[in-house]
Amino acid sequence: MSAVVDKEKCTGCGECVLSCPLDSLTLDEEDGKAAVDSDICGECGACIDVCPAGAISL
Ligand code: SF4
Ligand code: SF4
Repeated sequence: MSAVVDKEKCTGCGECVLSCPLDSLTLDEEDGKAAVDSDICGECGACIDVCPAGAISL
């Protein structure tokens, strides 16, 4: 389990990257959208709360 980004909804704003306490989120160099490293994600939910597009779920 880890946070999952809906690439269709993600605008690439980067808010989730700043919110993640474990640095498990990055902006993908290919498409500019958020990507989760599922091996690092601690499922804290912080990124879900800050995403203005509602693009992240657990
Ligand atoms: S759920 Fe928490 S640990 Fe996982 S990507 Fe979001 S902010 Fe980071
Ligand atoms: S906060 Fe939401 S819209 Fe912004 S980069 Fe992260 S997933 Fe995409």
